[in-house]
Amino acid sequence: MLKYEPHVHSNHSDGNNSVKEILDEAIKKKIEIISITDHDTLNGSLEAIEIVNEEHLPIIVIPGIEISTKNGHLLVYRIDREVEKGMEMAETIKAAKELGGFTVLTHPFEFYRHGCVKPNYFKHVDAVEVFNAKSYLNFLASYFANKYKKPIMAGSDAHSVYTIGYGLTLVDLNVEMKHKNDNTVSNRVFEAIMGFKVKIEGKRVPLRLRLTKLFK
Ligand SMILES: [Zn+2]
Ligand SMILES: [Zn+2]
Repeated sequence: MLKYEPHVHSNHSDGNNSVKEILDEAIKKKIEIISITDHDTLNGSLEAIEIVNEEHLPIIVIPGIEISTKNGHLLVYRIDREVEKGMEMAETIKAAKELGGFTVLTHPFEFYRHGCVKPNYFKHVDAVEVFNAKSYLNFLASYFANKYKKPIMAGSDAHSVYTIGYGLTLVDLNVEMKHKNDNTVSNRVFEAIMGFKVKIEGKRVPLRLRLTKLFK
């Protein structure tokens, strides 16, 4: 099983660390696949791809972005263009899919952190983040993902290197897929997620760490 960390913020949005620091920490934690999902910008992902290619780092980067829609946050993977923020959730999902994006509802019901509040959106996305290391409402995300028979993922939502890996999606792929940075890998990853061939692993970020800005 390959370790995929699909939800990390860098200093391209509100994260504490640079992309390089995030990649180094992920490699140290033996994470094989990562997505930098900054708020409303693909720049973190693009920089990660550049660094990995230039320095031949042993990690696969799948581009990602966390879009602020009018109705809550939405993760989109495998796109090379940004989708406008501030649109309706349904409209954003449609636009992202037209670009070939893989759409994931993140920390649903967490209205105090811009999670969507309507279960209705579960129907439209490709998958649901049923474990977010910062969320108190993962049980509700799981309940509705199960109800709507949606594929599942887990992510840390790390805003600092300390909490990278607190939420992981374990993907059943051949090991020879390692160290390749092309679309084949991301397609295989999302095929596995769609086929329910993943396991999720996670531990919640302790409140004492979240209260210290450095560890958020
Ligand atoms: Zn969010
Ligand atoms: Zn996030």
